[in-house]
Amino acid sequence: MGEPEVGHEGARRPRVLILGGGFGGIGAARALKDAEADVVLVDEHNYHTFQPLLYQLATDLLETSEVGHPLRDLFHEQANVAVHQDSVTAVDLGGRRVHFAEMASLDYDYLVLALGARVNFFGTEGASEHAFPMYTLADAVRFKEHVLRKWEAADKDPALVDDGALNVVVVGGGPTGVESAGALAELYRGDFAKDYPGMPQERARVTLVEAGPALLTMFKADIQKYAKKALEERGVDIVLGEIVESVSPSRVTLKSGRTLPAHTLVWGAGLQASPVADGLGLALEKGSRVVAAPDLSIEGHPEVFAVGDIAWITDTKTNRVLPQLGSVALQAGERAGANIARLLEGKESEPFAYVDKGTMATIGRASAVVQFHRGRTLKGKAASLAWGSVHLALLSTGEDRAKAMIEWTWAGFTHERPGRITVRTDE
Ligand SMILES: Cc1cc2nc3c(=O)[nH]c(=O)nc-3n(C[C@H](O)[C@H](O)[C@H](O)COP(=O)(O)OP(=O)(O)OC[C@H]3O[C@@H](n4cnc5c(N)ncnc54)[C@H](O)[C@@H]3O)c2cc1C
Repeated sequence: MGEPEVGHEGARRPRVLILGGGFGGIGAARALKDAEADVVLVDEHNYHTFQPLLYQLATDLLETSEVGHPLRDLFHEQANVAVHQDSVTAVDLGGRRVHFAEMASLDYDYLVLALGARVNFFGTEGASEHAFPMYTLADAVRFKEHVLRKWEAADKDPALVDDGALNVVVVGGGPTGVESAGALAELYRGDFAKDYPGMPQERARVTLVEAGPALLTMFKADIQKYAKKALEERGVDIVLGEIVESVSPSRVTLKSGRTLPAHTLVWGAGLQASPVADGLGLALEKGSRVVAAPDLSIEGHPEVFAVGDIAWITDTKTNRVLPQLGSVALQAGERAGANIARLLEGKESEPFAYVDKGTMATIGRASAVVQFHRGRTLKGKAASLAWGSVHLALLSTGEDRAKAMIEWTWAGFTHERPGRITVRTDE
């Protein structure tokens, strides 16, 4: 890694500092390909995480390297990009400087804030200690190993089943909760039923708890009904209108007083922007999101852009706040990068115009839902294909796309999940 320097001494090209190597950060860096600038991308991980596939890693359908991709690898062909692995600790907007956990601070001429979001447990008792969020690669691996360990333990001591060792409660009826519950139910009723034939399948429950009156509230009623039925057909118990009050290692307690015996709770119920946003000294929107202007810059700082999950972006066409989605982050990142390239050339920045390819969620094999922005909906196999094509387009390299295609096709034919192994590193 080259020595990062502080200050503007000596003649150097303008520096564009990109914080975060998710969809937003990658989109911005790529759009600066031909810019006369040094682009520095910093992420606390040395890989890009493809969050839409985390639940497939968590349920053994994909391997770690199919959901995470080395960040440096993405920029081998782009000479003006340097990648560093470090944690951003603070951003000094007035001083145009960013502080890191380990590296020396870096000054910037342009800055892209693309640090994403993280889980929000809303203060639920016991959740930060015992719940499993599904937001990072580490979350998915931790969850997958935990579930495998529970089944191996129950295989040796069936009394654990009575205590709820195999039960999983999924909190949140949005896409993350629906996708996780559907994939888990297929893992349980498919491969685990064959792997552990002596285990009473009907007593290994997957329960989805949603506070509202329906699942997938951002979708139309026909989709909500389809999703509920498709999950129930896969054996998921659905509890609507209930809030999780507390979580312990073996019990989930609901506000109504009902207790669910379960050694595992997946949290898919809420997000908040990266804590770096809180330290910016700006007025933030709901979920601590940074308000982006139409060209994605932030108020009073035309040299700073906010994109992706950390940003509060209003669609200039519809006047609606855009959802925290990979496609929004990627397109916004590309627009921010293109705007910086324009400013570097002395041109004006342009407003961001989101191209909506539809809101989607998968429920299981050959079962998904899509709602296009004009209101048309798709369900089942056709929606699954639409989900696949939109998400293949989001994958960062051709190699990733090819790998995902092979895995999905293979899993479609064989219904097999290759990731059902636990590796102990302490032996
Ligand atoms: C389980 C799940 C399923 C999803 N499914 C879909 C889907 O099907 N379709 C869809 O379009 N969207 C989906 N999304 C949403 C989508 O993944 C996000 O909207 C998208 O990843 C946001 O991109 P981003 O670049 O803003 O943030 P991220 O992708 O989160 O990237 C942020 C980056 O910043 C880094 N970072 C964070 N904090 C620091 C720090 N302090 N210092 C240094 N680096 C830091 C992180 O390591 C990360 O690489 C899903 C999300 C989840 C969690």
